[in-house]
Amino acid sequence: MRVVVVGSGSGGAAFAGTLAASGRHHVVLLEAGPDYGPFDGGGWPAELLQTASLPRTHDWELENEDRPGGRRYELGRAKVIGGCSAHNGCSAVRGLAGDFDGWCAATGSDSWRADAVLPDFLAIERRLRLRDYPPEEIPPFQARAFDAAMTLGLPATGNFNDLDEGPAVGFCPVNKVGGTRWNCAFAFLDPVRDTGRLEILDRCEATQILLERRRAVGVRATRAGRDIEVTGDLVVLAGGAYGSPMLLLASGIGPPAALDAAGIASCHALPGVGHNLQDHPSALLRFAGSPALEQAMLRFGQTAVPYEEGLIVKARSSLATTAIDLHLVPCGGRQPDGSWNWEILVALVAARARGLIEPLPGGRFAIRHRHFTDPGDRDLAAVLEGIALARRLAAAFPDLGDEVSPGPDAGLAAWVRDRHVHYWHPAGTCAMGRDPAAGAVTDAEGRVHGLAGLMVADASIMPTVVAANTNLATIMLGYRLARRLMGVG
Ligand SMILES: Cc1cc2nc3c(=O)[nH]c(=O)nc-3n(C[C@H](O)[C@H](O)[C@H](O)COP(=O)(O)OP(=O)(O)OC[C@H]3O[C@@H](n4cnc5c(N)ncnc54)[C@H](O)[C@@H]3O)c2cc1C
Repeated sequence: MRVVVVGSGSGGAAFAGTLAASGRHHVVLLEAGPDYGPFDGGGWPAELLQTASLPRTHDWELENEDRPGGRRYELGRAKVIGGCSAHNGCSAVRGLAGDFDGWCAATGSDSWRADAVLPDFLAIERRLRLRDYPPEEIPPFQARAFDAAMTLGLPATGNFNDLDEGPAVGFCPVNKVGGTRWNCAFAFLDPVRDTGRLEILDRCEATQILLERRRAVGVRATRAGRDIEVTGDLVVLAGGAYGSPMLLLASGIGPPAALDAAGIASCHALPGVGHNLQDHPSALLRFAGSPALEQAMLRFGQTAVPYEEGLIVKARSSLATTAIDLHLVPCGGRQPDGSWNWEILVALVAARARGLIEPLPGGRFAIRHRHFTDPGDRDLAAVLEGIALARRLAAAFPDLGDEVSPGPDAGLAAWVRDRHVHYWHPAGTCAMGRDPAAGAVTDAEGRVHGLAGLMVADASIMPTVVAANTNLATIMLGYRLARRLMGVG
């Protein structure tokens, strides 16, 4: 079978690499950004490999149209082979058993049971070279944050990625090896680059899905200023939670009224496309730091890579209906311009509000997250509890200095509404589920309802975003869907 995969990010690379490795399929992988070749080829830009901070050199530069507080609100999505796995924080967190139970409930299929996906997590984690930080690699900021977090009364984690673990404090595993971000292109594409089963078309942006009656037969794309058509027996969208629904909508697959308003001819009604947008809305507390902390970090940086993040406090607010609903993430280190940055991110990892991606006239799209719009403001209340917890942590961290933002005098509820950020974890815009009329876009196998030869295999198919960083779950689902297509797993 000839399979066209659009997007080489966490889901797409795992899907394409796994399918190509089967030896039975020919995979054509389209990626809008550049392909820098295999890791061993040495062609990768240094900033995408180094793991001390998050690079912004390969970005789609998407923005949230809601513009909380009237400001620019950047969303951060990578445009490069490997997708966001090539510029992310490498925190490797699986999620909760309840997350996958929820996927089973939404799809009416038990194929996403926690005990069924666990072997897939173990397999992809080996590919990603996952490891725990040894004590000598933990920077002073992180070590002090851990000591402070232990005063919150939560246990130190037994096993950070135990799907059944509740509130706990610990360093999550990472896919960073010797200071290198081990991205999904290295993990899944490098092993099959020379097999003749994988063809990569980089700097190639898919613009439309080609349909013949009710079957997808390929995609139209632009490459080097030319329009091309790439055909296959199966088309798999893996453009991410923004990119995949946009391609469906641009192809006339989505809510008919919205397509009509945007001047797009509707060819297949699927009301859920672009809806159910989720992320983990977050508040970012900033602190002044101190000369003592800077000196300790400088000394550490002479012998090891000073990672900015690693510690996560998994916590549960009084509003929670899941095992945990908050992450506190202390981040600290030196910025490329030499300044110091000391923060605690408070992320709500089980938000209730839902946003959407809306087609607009002229081929444009509006991304509206609509954070903190849930009835009863429970999302806001949970984040405010998280901020209170973060302030207790900060009070127990002697060298962290004063809180400079929002500061003790801020009206907190308004500040959260105006200044909130996100955790870079968009999901849910092509949700798996049983009933297309109720918003389901794909079935439990990632197949688009009502159209043959068309699948989605990225974070957009999560009916509910995992209560965790999303990279591992996205890779797992790409790997799992490919194996199920192959008749294994
Ligand atoms: C700055 C940042 C830090 C993060 N840190 C972490 C972390 O520490 N831990 C964690 O678990 N998660 C983290 N995440 C989130 C995680 O990386 C993502 O959830 C995950 O990579 C999403 O995978 P995906 O396959 O859905 O999409 P992506 O990885 O975004 O892949 C989509 C790919 O498709 C391509 N594409 C899109 N549209 C088209 C088109 N029309 N034609 C061709 N190609 C197209 C894109 O260029 C991209 O390469 C972070 C994300 C960001 C942005």
